Amino acid sequence: MTTTDMPAVSECTVTGCSYNHDGCHAFAITVSGEHGHADCATFIPLARKGGLPMAIAKVGACSRTDCMHNRDLECTAPGGVRMAPGVGENTTNCMTYARM
Ligand code: SF4
Ligand code: SF4
Repeated sequence: MTTTDMPAVSECTVTGCSYNHDGCHAFAITVSGEHGHADCATFIPLARKGGLPMAIAKVGACSRTDCMHNRDLECTAPGGVRMAPGVGENTTNCMTYARM
């Protein structure tokens, strides 16, 4: 898989993340998590915004091997992934996660 094949972060509604300003501005995110969650491990709640000038984030890695889109610890979701706030404070969830 090359960087151009990697699924995009097509949407993120986690406004408290430093990488989020009209979309995810990280170069790539890592998705992980336990207990049924698929969290964004790149989430960082700092006071300042950061990342690349453009929102072109990809899913660089994912350890949720129980998701049907996971192949060899990489995400293969055809339409990219949508991220949204999780239940707990400072958590994010991959809404595209689909348990096998
Ligand atoms: S929570 Fe994750 S996907 Fe959302 S903007 Fe932050 S780094 Fe990007
Ligand atoms: S869709 Fe599945 S494989 Fe892709 S990032 Fe989300 S949890 Fe990981």
